[in-house]
Amino acid sequence: QVHYELLTIGDELLLGLTTNTHLAFFGQQLGRRGVTLQRCVTVTDDAEAIARQFRETWPRSDVVFTTGGLGPTCDDRTREVLAAVLGQKLVFDAAIEHAIQERFAVFGRKMTPNNLKQAYRFERCEVLPNPNGTAPGLWVEQDGRVLCMLPGPPNEMQPMVLDQVFPKLAKMGLLLEREAYVQIRTAGVGESALETKLQPIFDRYGGALNVAYCAHLGMVDCRISSANEGLSAAQLEVIARECGRLLGEDVATYGHDSLAKVVSELLRVQDKRLAVAETGTGGLLASALNEISGACKFFAGGVVCCSNDARMELLEVPECLLLQHGAVSAECAVAMATGAAERLGADYGLAVTGFGSETTGPGGNPVGTTFIALHAPHGVWSKKLNYPGSRSTARIRAVHAALDWLRR
Ligand code: ATP
Ligand code: MG
Repeated sequence: QVHYELLTIGDELLLGLTTNTHLAFFGQQLGRRGVTLQRCVTVTDDAEAIARQFRETWPRSDVVFTTGGLGPTCDDRTREVLAAVLGQKLVFDAAIEHAIQERFAVFGRKMTPNNLKQAYRFERCEVLPNPNGTAPGLWVEQDGRVLCMLPGPPNEMQPMVLDQVFPKLAKMGLLLEREAYVQIRTAGVGESALETKLQPIFDRYGGALNVAYCAHLGMVDCRISSANEGLSAAQLEVIARECGRLLGEDVATYGHDSLAKVVSELLRVQDKRLAVAETGTGGLLASALNEISGACKFFAGGVVCCSNDARMELLEVPECLLLQHGAVSAECAVAMATGAAERLGADYGLAVTGFGSETTGPGGNPVGTTFIALHAPHGVWSKKLNYPGSRSTARIRAVHAALDWLRR
């Protein structure tokens, strides 16, 4: 097993001001390519702290990624510190300076002299261009190991890893070029029910198959991979499809696409548009759809409403309906879905209303009660759900449930 470590650098990570998303990113992306990240250490911007950790990490690793501290300001010290530890000289690179100048020109800004710090690279290294920022990455091969220094901002670092770093590592045989596992992404089934259904299939392969389940708020992923390279990618695919036939509509997709992505594809194929109306999820449903590139093709828009006035004004929910049934009701959900579709000129309207604390008002629902409704060209439907527990998880569950329902 090739030994990979990640060193995330930055005071803000340890102060909890920025969530360390790099660990999740590297862990997931390496895992998909057959490598388990062995360790992730986070250190402050302090030069001595970085040096001490790197001296410990380097000798035991085959590949070390560092993130952060490549920027222009005085707290960005990664380059200098690691060069010193590895006994490399830093040299000025006019090509990097040129790239930085160009980037400033694009944004119509003037480059300040401290930016030139980013134009220094290790004497023996490869420069990894950064299409989304000024600090390039540095790729160093030394002592039979690889050190890859990357900038901190996720939007800069992630494309560099996927487009430049992983292909280089794959070429060196340090990770797989293809997906290491096949993933069956389900929605609306529980983890244990899923295992009960699928186990008979997996039993036929005995120890040749590794199976893992991962549940996340209304969705469960089942990953299957080959133990000891015994099964080919094509064989894994066949097993996954067999599982898919057994699970039917509970399979949302194969792979890593979000439910919003799955829904967007279905809408695009049918050339239909969706509008949403939300109470409780506060725009999370719209946000999930908005994340898909080219969203305006299938997503007409959304209405977030908390007050009855908003429901009446923006979605034309009749006042008598609200008085009779309350805002957390099947009737209101249907009216919201229809209102959204009609007001926004969409083919489908999807509405969520719930987790109200309105145990008193009309309807008298317990906390966590949620209704979702779908307005489609061929009819309207509603469904009652119950999400006790924290609001933040209830919101995500409701979004998943609504999108899953539309997909079916
Ligand atoms: P810059 O050129 O932006 O200064 P840099 O390489 O110096 O790049 P940092 O200054 O360390 O990077 O971080 C820049 C931004 O990236 C910060 O907003 C920081 O919060 C974010 N960032 C850094 N590390 C992580 C991480 N592990 N997870 C999520 N965000 C991170
Ligand atoms: Mg920093």
